Amino acid sequence: MADEESASAPQPATLTRASGFDVSARSDGLTRRSFVGTAALAGASLISAAATAQNRQQAEAGRKGDSASDPGPENHPLLAENPNANLPPFTDRGNPGSVWYSFDVTPKRLEAGGWTHQVTERELPSSKDLAGVNMRLTAGSFRELHWHLADEWAIMLAGKARVTNMQPDGKMFVDDIETGDLWYFPAGLPHSIQGLEGDGCEFLLVFDQGSFSEDTTFLLSELLAHIPPEIIRKNMGWTRAEWDQLPPEQLYIFPANLPGSLEADRQFLGKHLETRTQYTLKASKMPPTFKSPGGEVLIVDSTNFPVATNIAMAQVTLRPGAIRELHWHPNGSEWQYWIKGQGRMTVVSTEAKARTMDFHANDVGLVPSMAGHYIENTGSGDLVFLEMFKTARYQDVSVNEWIARMPDKMAQAHLQLPLSTIRRAPQSSLKILPG
Ligand code: MN
Ligand code: MN
Repeated sequence: MADEESASAPQPATLTRASGFDVSARSDGLTRRSFVGTAALAGASLISAAATAQNRQQAEAGRKGDSASDPGPENHPLLAENPNANLPPFTDRGNPGSVWYSFDVTPKRLEAGGWTHQVTERELPSSKDLAGVNMRLTAGSFRELHWHLADEWAIMLAGKARVTNMQPDGKMFVDDIETGDLWYFPAGLPHSIQGLEGDGCEFLLVFDQGSFSEDTTFLLSELLAHIPPEIIRKNMGWTRAEWDQLPPEQLYIFPANLPGSLEADRQFLGKHLETRTQYTLKASKMPPTFKSPGGEVLIVDSTNFPVATNIAMAQVTLRPGAIRELHWHPNGSEWQYWIKGQGRMTVVSTEAKARTMDFHANDVGLVPSMAGHYIENTGSGDLVFLEMFKTARYQDVSVNEWIARMPDKMAQAHLQLPLSTIRRAPQSSLKILPG
């Protein structure tokens, strides 16, 4: 009904009355049709502005009235988690593509020693730039030695792990990391992850390839199991009987004894220990890049973690009610991992497509490249989430900063507000605004 009204032509009778002309009395040969046409042009913007305002009011009212009732079946737990999907804000429109997924609805590969599951382009089709894997290793358990086509960025979510990574020059990096710390392993370099004493660990891996799959990594076990034994004898000096004892199929995740001390592993490596390139970053000990009463942001990219040449992070903490300000990113899509708390996000794409969704811990959010968005903490505690990008340098464009840089006449022409109102907005990018 609202669409029909906004699409209909302005009423000629209304225009005639408003203009004060008596069309029938004219003697200059101007036909009624051409007069109405001219008047319609002059009045169209006023009429359509009024119609738009009316449509907005109707949409807002309809959201609360009978129109929103749902007498049929409903998935109540799901709707309770996502009130903005059930009853979208009246400003939502159309479908800009999926912006939400959750690790908690993906297939989980459970093995002795831990588990893994992933959110890739297959689960979240708009995620072309990055894919994520969430993995658990109990104390001592390994993610088998492996390598892959994509760069690997990681953050420890709980516990501790020992990681190793060997360079083509034969030097090996080894380090222990704990909750909040990061690692970055470039494509093709063989690496390992092992859960440490206590309760092992859980971490998030992010790959710079939306189509990446944790099932398509190169594994030490599979390499050796598919080389003829006589070649293994020539290459390693191991007999056929010894080859038979190698794992016949992949280990992937498996239990093992806890390692010795980090110092012992480093002493074992001696002159082959890599010390120049840091493949880990103790981000848990870093001060935030921005801090305000509404929360804080820690940005890690190739400027403060040089090995991370293709994946950048902004870790955002929002106090209750605070928002990550309205902005977009000029260098690609944003892949989010929600660590703690709850919030909502609206994504506004081209052709006025807008979608609002609610998010919780272990969810993944996706903002298509360049699309405007904000994030609001809708919970009673802190909200913590990661903004991830396939880029060497973190970048964003703040809408408040853009408006502040517009000369007065330009700003007024576009926003159609009094200048005093326009200039009440923050005059720079604050990243986070309190609730
Ligand atoms: Mn890996
Ligand atoms: Mn963002």
